Amino acid sequence: MTPRPTKVCIIGAGCSGITTAKRLQDYGVAYDQFELSDDVGGNWYFRNPNGRSAVYESLHIDTSKTRLQLEDFPVPDEWPDFPSHRLMHDYFRAYVEEFGLRGGIEFGTAVERAVRRDGGWDVTLSTGETRSYTDLVVANGHHWSPRLPDYPGTFDGVLLHSHDYVSPFEPVEIRGKRVIVVGMGNSAMDIASELASPWMAQTLYVSARRGVWVLPKYRNGQPADKVMAPPDIPKDVALAASRELIRNLVGKMSDYGLPEPDHEPLSAHPSVSADFLTKAGSGDIHMLPAIERLDGLTVHLTDGSSVEADVIICATGYDMKFPFFDDAETDLHPDDDHRYPLFKRMIKPGVDHLFFMGLAQSSPTIVNLAEQQSKLLARLLTGSYELPSVEEQQRIMVADEQAHLEQYYAAKRHTIQIDFARYCLDLSDEIAAGEERAKASA
Ligand SMILES: Cc1cc2nc3c(=O)[nH]c(=O)nc-3n(C[C@H](O)[C@H](O)[C@H](O)COP(=O)(O)OP(=O)(O)OC[C@H]3O[C@@H](n4cnc5c(N)ncnc54)[C@H](O)[C@@H]3O)c2cc1C
Repeated sequence: MTPRPTKVCIIGAGCSGITTAKRLQDYGVAYDQFELSDDVGGNWYFRNPNGRSAVYESLHIDTSKTRLQLEDFPVPDEWPDFPSHRLMHDYFRAYVEEFGLRGGIEFGTAVERAVRRDGGWDVTLSTGETRSYTDLVVANGHHWSPRLPDYPGTFDGVLLHSHDYVSPFEPVEIRGKRVIVVGMGNSAMDIASELASPWMAQTLYVSARRGVWVLPKYRNGQPADKVMAPPDIPKDVALAASRELIRNLVGKMSDYGLPEPDHEPLSAHPSVSADFLTKAGSGDIHMLPAIERLDGLTVHLTDGSSVEADVIICATGYDMKFPFFDDAETDLHPDDDHRYPLFKRMIKPGVDHLFFMGLAQSSPTIVNLAEQQSKLLARLLTGSYELPSVEEQQRIMVADEQAHLEQYYAAKRHTIQIDFARYCLDLSDEIAAGEERAKASA
């Protein structure tokens, strides 16, 4: 196949954007990269002036260092197993310096509009300029648009999303307050554990619609994600073994005073915490059912009871959003159930020259996902990989979704789940198949 002329636009310089840029640079593909902030790092840039980072002061990544590292840029040996957001940001800054990527990023420049035209995209920037590209790479992240519950009634205290939580003292002083953390995902685990010390919140409640399995960060002295089942074991066998192991490791959630989950271990995106179970077992975390309505400082719950609260922190997740696509282009936005199916979680079948990077809830890591995806992208753009037909992409996409999602209960938070290791194995098979197709049609 003769490579077609390309000029690529990359939206975003978080870890997904910078590893994509590195790959395109390696393959000699021309690109422009736009970043609305003043630095790389995206979510891992604490107090990012773009207002989109959800990093709180005490955050350490839940993925261990060897699982998150980029394959051509190992993390420093002296790093702890679970680095802080500061180390993560330093790492991404060092990456762009090492590979000479910084000069290719136009900082302080947002992509405000991306419009399809024959053979490419017209991209309008916050500078007012419009530039034309053959291909558009979307790496704008999917943890920046808070999903807030819409409770009936009014609340006279402070209600915020975990996205805006910085520390026990910012944006609201927590000491001595009655606090409800809503949700039992990873941010809820961290924030509830941080605020549950007796000298911190007066009372710390966690409100949840259902119980979850809380998994430890370590197993036998090793980061738990280092000892996951290898991806070449059949999934049902690996899943059954992992579920049994988790049950044996943590026991019953009710033993800690927590609600029993109504699902199997690993039927939800893992909630990982070293501290939460101990705090719950020590009586510092009080569980509540879901919130039904608000009235002054009274919070009414679905079981008919109520509590008084001063602060509600909703750790209730994020919506995928692509504000640079026109609202009328409904096929470019997630549906009402927050579904956004993609071929190999990168490509909308039938929408030419558009690629999404890092757009998956990948367990145990998103950090190096785009690094793997960019292998397919770079080959496609330089002609050594050819996509299957649109019909075949659709068929594979449906089968892949079924394979990746069937273990999870249906919920908005589980529409883009993948198992990183299995995904990568499958992606390399797809790259090999596409290389054969490209050779055959040469
Ligand atoms: C609290 C929290 C904890 C997390 N913990 C983990 C974890 O343990 N392990 C893990 O793997 N992941 C974790 N994540 C997920 C996290 O999103 C990823 O690790 C990673 O940040 C994804 O990188 P990204 O480049 O895709 O997106 P981001 O980091 O969000 O970067 C996107 C970049 O695009 C830029 N941008 C957006 N729109 C535009 C535009 N229109 N024009 C120009 N630039 C734009 C933004 O400014 C930003 O710099 C966590 C997320 C949160 C919120």
